[in-house]
Amino acid sequence: MSIESTNPATGEVVDTYDEESDDEREEQLERANETFEEWSETPIETRQQLLARAGEILRENEDEYAELMTREMGKPIGQARDEVEKCAWVCDYYAEHAAEFLQDDVVSGDESARTVVAYQPLGPILAIMPWNFPFWQVFRFAAPNLAAGNVGLLKHASNVPGCARAIEDVFHEAGFPEGAFTSLLISSSEIDTVIEDERIAGVTLTGSDGAGRSVAETAGSQLKKNVLELGGSDPFVVLEDAPMDETVETAAQARLINNGQSCIAAKRFIVVDEVYDEFVDRFIEEMDAQTVGDPMDEDTDIGPQAREDLMEELHDQVEETAEQGGEIELGGEPMDREGAFYPPTVLTDVPENAPADEEELFGPVATVFRVPDEEAAIEKANDTRFGLGASVWTEDLERGERVARQFESGMAFVNELVKSDPRLPFGGVKDSGYGRELSRHGIREFVNTKMIWVQ
Ligand code: NDP
Repeated sequence: MSIESTNPATGEVVDTYDEESDDEREEQLERANETFEEWSETPIETRQQLLARAGEILRENEDEYAELMTREMGKPIGQARDEVEKCAWVCDYYAEHAAEFLQDDVVSGDESARTVVAYQPLGPILAIMPWNFPFWQVFRFAAPNLAAGNVGLLKHASNVPGCARAIEDVFHEAGFPEGAFTSLLISSSEIDTVIEDERIAGVTLTGSDGAGRSVAETAGSQLKKNVLELGGSDPFVVLEDAPMDETVETAAQARLINNGQSCIAAKRFIVVDEVYDEFVDRFIEEMDAQTVGDPMDEDTDIGPQAREDLMEELHDQVEETAEQGGEIELGGEPMDREGAFYPPTVLTDVPENAPADEEELFGPVATVFRVPDEEAAIEKANDTRFGLGASVWTEDLERGERVARQFESGMAFVNELVKSDPRLPFGGVKDSGYGRELSRHGIREFVNTKMIWVQ
């Protein structure tokens, strides 16, 4: 079997890769397991130095990696470069802080005893990753885990095999031992066998809730720790005292980043009645002003959707919403050109339970809801099975923080779009998953928090 990567802007096949055989996979798992024995004993300072070197390699080859991402999944080239830079940042961050985050906590309760909490690596961790941020999602997992002394095995999304290989090469070039980070070129139907393998100590997945449920079921049956970062339908709440210029500009950006294919993109715009008409008019103008085109072109704001089938799925959700009474104010039809291009789209008057109300719309489609006041806005924001990020827009910062605390989400922002930052925990509640990545919380997910009592 082979894995093909296709350029979604042109429909052309970029490259073809052979899937690994069962024997090759066995070798990879065995090597990872053996490397773990040595790597977990390697001083953390050495692990941190290698991570810092990986960051340098990323920066040295920024253009090459950015072009690879854009070719395989269509993100605008400028955003691809920013992604490489962010990966280097997360390497630097853990190269600097890993030892501090994993230092023993000395508790010493009883005077006659020494009691300590130590954080010890668990073993080979499997990462199942998506195509939308094909470098960032992987480095967000790999940097803390390699620093902690775990080894990583990556099952990347089938449409970005070139990125998977390139990331593996970054770690080799940086001097990590063979087996510290391995890309498995396998299909998702083979994942359960890998999760069930006794050498795998834990599994993390970023992707759809369907894939998350399946992985959690298998991991649960094996009693293996798992972290899930799933979809979102983040609310973007606009109150009557929102700073309107900044709010409208950021609203479009928050919806359209990465061609609209981000788990933390703002998807439901919840606007109080007093400023609803003004917001909708200006928001449609802002969405319409974006340049859709070749993602390799520096002036492009929005490239193609990552795969033809994903675009069709998105369009079905828009059509179904319109059939149920939703208004298409802008866009709403695949573009009449080569490639999987979908235009910025704005929906209003969307009835309850329509796809744009209930489901995640993973593309450049925004849904705007009218609510009478702040209380109703919070209620609408929380009326979803997802709980990843949320934002609120108001001139009154105390009010903003009060509202932020009432969001049922893993992350809440006042006057800022939802974004990830290596220094802060990232993750969700409800159907958006569990566990946290990044910061000191992320590095402690796949460790044994071990209590030691010395009498
Ligand atoms: P998937 O969730 O199907 O893919 C994400 C990763 O999981 C890929 O590596 C995929 O492998 C793997 N995978 C898929 N099914 C299983 C399974 N049953 N067991 C184990 N691994 C599995 O996402 P899609 O690419 O199909 O996108 C569909 C939707 O998912 C999007 O429209 C969006 O709503 C959501 N999504 C959310 C993301 C996020 O950042 N939270 C990222 C990407 C998608 P393979 O590619 O080989 O199928």
